Amino acid sequence: MYAPFEEPAPRQVQPGEYPVLDEALALINRDVAATLPEREPLRLMALPHWEEGEPEDVYVTLPNGEWWGNPLWQGYPDSRREEPLAALAAVAEAAQDTVTECLWQAWPVCTVHDLGMHLGEADGRPVWRCVGAGREPEHVRAAVGELDAVQRRR
Ligand SMILES: [Zn+2]
Repeated sequence: MYAPFEEPAPRQVQPGEYPVLDEALALINRDVAATLPEREPLRLMALPHWEEGEPEDVYVTLPNGEWWGNPLWQGYPDSRREEPLAALAAVAEAAQDTVTECLWQAWPVCTVHDLGMHLGEADGRPVWRCVGAGREPEHVRAAVGELDAVQRRR
């Protein structure tokens, strides 16, 4: 006998439900606006956790609801979930996975070296790093949320 299989529908997270994530996503969306001006802002979507009674899973998605990768906070102890910088790093990583895999493009890109950047940490806060090219060493391009300062399109 087949049990009916019900796929739970993702729901859009409303402003204020996860204030720490809202703030982190607002910063990430500044980077999106600075580097992908033709794109709409990313969003937060939630799905019930597969295990009943567990907190729902939250994802960073494209405006159409698509995402790639793990939910936010996977592997994070509860005590870290309210930390703004930890939230910013988690949202940045999730946003990078979603944009890179769903749109099939490296993101964000260092416009000096034309290379996809990776998430790092400097002075305790998340930054976008570029591996450099040739004799030019690895460098921090900008703090997460501040790409508009270095690579606004002309
Ligand atoms: Zn670079």
